[in-house]
Amino acid sequence: MIENPIPWPNGAQCACAITFDIDADSLIHVSRPNDSYQRLYPTSMGRYGPTVAIPRILETYRRLGIKQSFFVPGWCLENYSSVMEKILLEGHEIGHHGWIHEDPTNTLGQVQREAFEKALETHKRICGVSPRGYRAPVYNVTPQVIDLLIENGFIYESSLMGDDIPYVLKTDGGQLFEIPVHWGCDDWPPFAHYEEIGYMMPVRAPSEGLKGFWEEFDAQYEAGGFFMLIVHPFLTGRLARWRIVERWLEETIASKRVWFAPLDEIVGHVQRLMDEGVYNPKVDKLPYYSGPVEI
Ligand SMILES: [Zn+2]
Repeated sequence: MIENPIPWPNGAQCACAITFDIDADSLIHVSRPNDSYQRLYPTSMGRYGPTVAIPRILETYRRLGIKQSFFVPGWCLENYSSVMEKILLEGHEIGHHGWIHEDPTNTLGQVQREAFEKALETHKRICGVSPRGYRAPVYNVTPQVIDLLIENGFIYESSLMGDDIPYVLKTDGGQLFEIPVHWGCDDWPPFAHYEEIGYMMPVRAPSEGLKGFWEEFDAQYEAGGFFMLIVHPFLTGRLARWRIVERWLEETIASKRVWFAPLDEIVGHVQRLMDEGVYNPKVDKLPYYSGPVEI
C-alpha cells in the first residue's frame, strides 16, 4: 500500500523511468587524479558507456518510442559531446550530475559552489538549455547543494530515499521535487566490480542481478506507484544485461498500463495536479538538522 498515490495520466497504473548516469571514465580520474592516465583498463571500462552502450540504449528507446532521463557530469558532457547531442536530438532529458563526479560531502563551501556552477555552465553551453534536474554523485546531496538547486531554478532533485514516490523538499529559500532513489534499484550492488574506487561486488549473472529490479517494479505497479531504475551504461548497458532489460521493456509496454517518461515530465505532471488542487504530495522540510547532532 502507498498512502498517497499519484494519479497518473491516461489511466496508467504506474509511472516508470529507466535513468542512466553516464559517469564514463570520470570515476577513475576523480578517484586517482595523479595517475589515472596510466590506468587504461578502468578508463576503457568507463568509456564503454558513452561509446558502446549509449548507442544501443538509444536504439531500443527509439524502437519502443519512449523518452527517458540521463544524468551526466559536466566533464563527460565536454569529453563526449557528440554522444550528448544524439541523446538530445532523440528528445531525452539530460540532468546535472556534478562536474567530474566529485562527492558533494567532500567538496563543501566555495569549492562545492564552483564545481556546481562550472557543471551548470557546461550544460548550458553544450546542451543549449539549463538542466531541470539533478542527481548527486554517489547520492551524496548536501543542504548546500539543495540551496544551489533552488537558487538556479531546478525543478527536481533525485538522490534521496525518503519515500516510494515523488515528494517535495522545502527549505527556507524555496522548494523542489524529490524523485526518490534507493539501492535496490541501482546496478552498482549486483554488477560493479571496481577495485580502484573501493567497490568490489561479486558480479551476478545478468538475470539474477536484474531480478530484484523486476520485483521492485511489481510492487510499485500493484500499489499504483512509481518505478525508477538508477543504472549506468557501462554496467547495465552491457550486451547480455541490456538484452534482458530490452525484453522486459517490450513485455511491460505490451501488457501493462505504464507511463514511461523523463523525470522532468513526471514532475510537470505532479505540479499540474497540485496547481489544479487535486493532489498534495508529502513535504519534507530541510535541513533535517541545523548542525552536528548531539548524541
Ligand atoms: Zn554517477
